[in-house]
Amino acid sequence: MAAGGAPAVLIEVFGCQMNVVDAELVLGRFAALGFARSTAYDDADVVVFTTCSVRGHAEERVYSRLGALRRWKAERPGRVLAVMGCMAQREAQRITRRVPHVDIVCGTRDFPALPDLVERVRAGRAGPRPLVLVDGRERPDAARRPEARLRRRQAYVAIMRGCNRACAYCVVPGARGREVSRPLEEVAGEVQALVAAGVVEVCLLGQTVNAYDGQERGAVTLGTLLRRLEGVRGLRRLRFITSHPASFDADTLAAMAESSKLDRFLHMPLQSGSDRILKAMRRGYTLERFRAVASRVRALIPDMRFGCDWIVGFPGESEEDHGLSLAACEELRFVQSFVFKYSPRPGTFAAEHLADDVPIEVKKRRHRELLLLQERISLEENLALRGRIAEVLVEGRSRLDPAKWSGRDAAHRIVVLDDDRLAEGALCSARIVDATALTLFGEVESLAEAPA
Ligand code: SF4
Repeated sequence: MAAGGAPAVLIEVFGCQMNVVDAELVLGRFAALGFARSTAYDDADVVVFTTCSVRGHAEERVYSRLGALRRWKAERPGRVLAVMGCMAQREAQRITRRVPHVDIVCGTRDFPALPDLVERVRAGRAGPRPLVLVDGRERPDAARRPEARLRRRQAYVAIMRGCNRACAYCVVPGARGREVSRPLEEVAGEVQALVAAGVVEVCLLGQTVNAYDGQERGAVTLGTLLRRLEGVRGLRRLRFITSHPASFDADTLAAMAESSKLDRFLHMPLQSGSDRILKAMRRGYTLERFRAVASRVRALIPDMRFGCDWIVGFPGESEEDHGLSLAACEELRFVQSFVFKYSPRPGTFAAEHLADDVPIEVKKRRHRELLLLQERISLEENLALRGRIAEVLVEGRSRLDPAKWSGRDAAHRIVVLDDDRLAEGALCSARIVDATALTLFGEVESLAEAPA
């Protein structure tokens, strides 16, 4: 229970940025019912997990955490434990069997109903537990409360949900359903409300965000939205994730080049450098197509930098295929990469039709090789920035050294700064004086904007 007697809810976010938005949306609805947000389990009357299902070990981690909460529930009668997110959508029955002390399981499009379900459980009007709701009738993004945010100066905004693609290894289409874009003015209104509440950076979210159509296919693109948000006063930075190489249209590329707010960082997963493996993954493009999109973007926006995702050890991946991935990483020079070892996910095409035939030791070695290559490239790229001036948006205290500040430059690189004039949300110009593969170190030259 929170100070003042309000019931307290603690929300724990596992997984991707979309789960951060979902957490903020559900927190807003709890606040509307008079709940206070808690970050301490001892004070919490309600605990909600937003869960991820992309990899098996992510799910096992959630199961062990949920198991450990049996004692938390027993300590105080009336406490409520709820699970939402992709794992809840895909595994509802299994969760209720493995963790019978969970009270509510809510799917990826049902969580807006969660606070009311919690109230019913707390009032003893819920009937037999657990309550399972996974039929996706709600409109998750309606009625966002800008003040219910997990970060003060930055916010994610879901502009679409679901995915119409069918990559062979991916659980997202099964967990989050078909693509549904939000109307353009609804998104613009939400961004304006967030900026009015103090946000200076907005990240637009979608599984294939560049397939956005504002529910007006052919008439509206991500480009239309970028131009619309260009006029939002007080919005300093705009970015979007995750792009699919085969979903870019000319209008969006042109709008990206016109934008004065757009980050100089584009996260565009390649996954493999081998066309044979890209075909088996059902990614819908070749390496040549990826190259063409990347060079088109670089031609329009020369200082644009790219981030990438890779999967090593996909069924059938040979040493030659792996070599093609290393060569593509070397050639395309991403500023950062996330590298994952393939693990079969129940319900995916790959798990049901392709043998997981790459030994784990080989997966581990390929994973290490790609990470080390990326680390070398990132270090070379970052060291080349010494002496340059970067515009940095301060995000908060540095994890490396809490006495210092950490922020992001326009290419989303982490910059550590040591200056008493700074605060979360400050925008400053800093001279880069040193670098590692993961971090830049800067000295503040001038303060562009002190946070309100
Ligand atoms: S584009 Fe592919 S990997 Fe991305 S969410 Fe859709 S199915 Fe999954």
